[in-house]
Amino acid sequence: MRYLSTRGHAERKRFCEILLEGLAPDGGLYLPERYPQVDDATLTRWREVYREQGYAALAFEVLSLYIDDIPAADLRALCAKTYTAEVFGTREIVPLRPLEPGLWLEALSNGPTLAFKDMAMQLLGHLFEYELARRGQTLNILGATSGDTGSAAEYAMRGKRGIRVFMLSPHGRMSPFQQAQMFSLQDPNIHNIAIEGVFDDCQDIVKAVSHDLAFKQRHQIGTVNSINWARLLAQVVYYFAGYFQATASNAQKVSFTVPSGNFGNVCAGHVARMMGLPIDQLVVATNENDVLDEFFRTGLYRVRGSADTFETSSPSMDISKASNFERFVFDLLGRDAPRTRALFGDALSRDGRFDLGADPHFPLAASRYGFVSGKSTHADRIATIRDVWSRFGQMIDTHTADGVKVAREHVRSGVPMVVLETALPIKFAQTLVEALGREPGRPAPFIGIENLPKRVQVMPVDAERVKAYIAAHCQA
Ligand SMILES: *Cc1c(COP(=O)(O)O)cnc(C)c1O
Repeated sequence: MRYLSTRGHAERKRFCEILLEGLAPDGGLYLPERYPQVDDATLTRWREVYREQGYAALAFEVLSLYIDDIPAADLRALCAKTYTAEVFGTREIVPLRPLEPGLWLEALSNGPTLAFKDMAMQLLGHLFEYELARRGQTLNILGATSGDTGSAAEYAMRGKRGIRVFMLSPHGRMSPFQQAQMFSLQDPNIHNIAIEGVFDDCQDIVKAVSHDLAFKQRHQIGTVNSINWARLLAQVVYYFAGYFQATASNAQKVSFTVPSGNFGNVCAGHVARMMGLPIDQLVVATNENDVLDEFFRTGLYRVRGSADTFETSSPSMDISKASNFERFVFDLLGRDAPRTRALFGDALSRDGRFDLGADPHFPLAASRYGFVSGKSTHADRIATIRDVWSRFGQMIDTHTADGVKVAREHVRSGVPMVVLETALPIKFAQTLVEALGREPGRPAPFIGIENLPKRVQVMPVDAERVKAYIAAHCQA
């Protein structure tokens, strides 16, 4: 399997070459040259693999179609190490539970940080450690987070040989629970840096450091952001696992609703569908930051400025642009790389928007690729959380509530609708209290974490200070 860039760069790369990279050299995103096809017999075999051998074995089946530069036995062992009941809480790893007739929740948030990003990040930790050891290299991961990504990265990389994490977060702006999750880690290879500014300041510092190529090279700086192909690939697996749990035979179709921000999660659903998984609709659910809903309704893709990027009660979906979206548009346009480059490289940086509303390819988003969308507001979120609690006795988090609200607008009779549960309610307790007047339950390992000693450096908005800190701490 070789990987290409959505913007047409001539080079083709193998999986382990792009594993530790972000963007392709021409600024595009990596995609496989073709999507491996899963026929009916294979799907039937995978159904049995999942039922009899479990999620890790299914993950190996999916990943091995895309990864041919890690020996099969090693890849199988990496999957087995990653997807265990100890780490993810259940044997199914992503158990499905019914909500109301025709509607199911797929739990993706029972990993160490209680959000779906663990599903991919835990695998990434093992893949990175394996590949770095093979190359005799080390890696210093630099990132910025406002919550879920940073903690998922830290819990995936803690204690891993050859890897250090330097994670910037806006000082005092994450929830007490999120701060406790990250800052209570005592592993020497994890460095929390709280920046006296907002999330954008953190991101600007990461960009400034990454643009200093000499520094970046000298200190082996890398990232784990959501455009990483390996992360996306790991997420493809739970679409298969969800499908197998929702159906008894391959004749049945299933729809998925995905609470979306950077389009990473639902893009994995697109990949699963392109492989032949019988998915009917892929429903994109957004919050007030409705960049994606606007596109799927009208064909207009319009990046938001900071003035109209809203802070919402489903904060992990508060995006101004959807960083993985280019992958889908590339497929939508019939894999036309020059056009993708013209849209994302030129039009977007010049005008901050492009409009495919009148393009003959646009209607295919729904008719051929199954995409539809919807939007949810704070009031919808509160109403949905209350409704689900009072009628079914289940607490759902704010992002999942956005999903349930939008899913209900797209249910088709005879087609199970699976809503991806992307976080547990305890992570967003404040809004749950607003909706229900009570605190969500807390898994045992998290009781009292706010009182644990914290390991964090506070710094001003100053890229040079961050660089100096990294330089001082990345040799040991
Ligand atoms: C990251 C995240 C999302 C959005 O996922 P994307 O892949 O960025 O679309 C939704 N919900 C939660 C809880 C998240 O952490």
